[in-house]
Amino acid sequence: MPDLYDLGERPPLGLVPTQMHAYAVRQSRFGQPRDAWKREILPTPTIGPDEVLVYVMASGINFNNVWAALGTPVDVIGERMKAGEPEDFHAGGSDCSGIVWAVGKDVRNVAVGDEVIVHSGWWRPDDPWVLAGKDPMLAESTRIWGYQTNYGSYCQFARAQAHQCLPKPTRLTWEEAGCFLLCASTAYRMLMGWPPHTVEPGDVVLVWGAAGGLGSMALDITRAQGGRAVAVVSDEAKREFCVKHGAAGVINRNDFKHWGPMPDTKDAKAYGEWAKGARAFGKAVWDALGERTSPRIVFEHPGEATLPTSGFLCATGGMIVICAGTTGYNVTMDLRYHWMRQKRFQGSHLSNDEQAAAVTALVAEGRVDPCLSETYRFDDIPHCHQLMLDNKHPYGNMGVLVNAPRPGLGRA
Ligand code: NAP
Repeated sequence: MPDLYDLGERPPLGLVPTQMHAYAVRQSRFGQPRDAWKREILPTPTIGPDEVLVYVMASGINFNNVWAALGTPVDVIGERMKAGEPEDFHAGGSDCSGIVWAVGKDVRNVAVGDEVIVHSGWWRPDDPWVLAGKDPMLAESTRIWGYQTNYGSYCQFARAQAHQCLPKPTRLTWEEAGCFLLCASTAYRMLMGWPPHTVEPGDVVLVWGAAGGLGSMALDITRAQGGRAVAVVSDEAKREFCVKHGAAGVINRNDFKHWGPMPDTKDAKAYGEWAKGARAFGKAVWDALGERTSPRIVFEHPGEATLPTSGFLCATGGMIVICAGTTGYNVTMDLRYHWMRQKRFQGSHLSNDEQAAAVTALVAEGRVDPCLSETYRFDDIPHCHQLMLDNKHPYGNMGVLVNAPRPGLGRA
């Protein structure tokens, strides 16, 4: 058997070549994604008793591997080497559809030959928190697969824990199935994982970055639960996409100027200007809806630029739920509105097995669209991350073919 197969060539099922094609970042290349991500030939990883090796058919592109390329806010390679891992590279990729090619001796939930998608919640099986049956996303050992762990979906063969595997929805092509789960499962936990603030019929949900990976999933999930999303975008061209994905109204954030950290409340002039902008934005939400109802849930991820507004306009007793600080981490908020109106500010991160399975079921039933925007070639991986960093990527989730020879394959 050869040591290395071309992309798309299949070794006999269950047999694993010693080397593989992969896209990787090295510390010496940290910087703009177009230069940081390079194609390499790497040793195929071995697997532990509870792990599987997946012959990757297609992958998605996620913002976490933009951060990995930049080497900030975390040097994922340095962190892993400090923890004792030998590899001085990051072969990433956190969204995957493919075929199980090898399984560890303790694996029971999947078998060689199964067609799967992989969610990116990774935790140590012997973590006491996990063993106690608590939410593993709150465990000390939790990592994001293909970002904080190596050998993700930009590898010809990806290494994952067996519990991460879910049956591939049969109605989807490889690239549709491989593009959505990281964003969908994150959005699902944000919208459905923090009771009593889960989307209920009629609820208004404000969605920042609504044509992005997370935002598009949030629109579809809100619609599937009977909620009414108000979408925020920066470009009129995105309006139609949002309406198609269920938005009850769309707001262009470029019509406002009060973004960024909130000014000092003691500076009456500056604060007054900011408050005028925030109030106008709140009114725009009502106008978009056609009624004076404020969002019960605010779906946040830009962070520094938008959080003061999110906190201001969230309904009394509502929740601002946040999973990132894309525009910065320095949080400002007018606390008077927060406590007097008894709002909740909730952090959220990825999802557990059950949440990943729940949103995959919605996709499998056709109630949530995977929002595949465009399908790219394997060698477009650096370009796709650059598009994302520059906020020039197509709406929804980008897909990348890995071993799938062309788009459109894989549907049952
Ligand atoms: P994305 O596809 O790039 O979408 C982000 C959207 O944010 C863009 O479409 C953009 O839309 C909007 N945006 C950009 N700058 C903005 C600003 N200054 N103010 C308001 N909106 C702005 O990225 P994504 O995949 O949705 O991910 C978004 C963030 O969430 C990233 O930081 C990512 O790392 C993080 N994330 C975290 C988790 C987790 O589990 N913690 C999971 C997934 C993603 P407009 O320009 O149209 O407004």
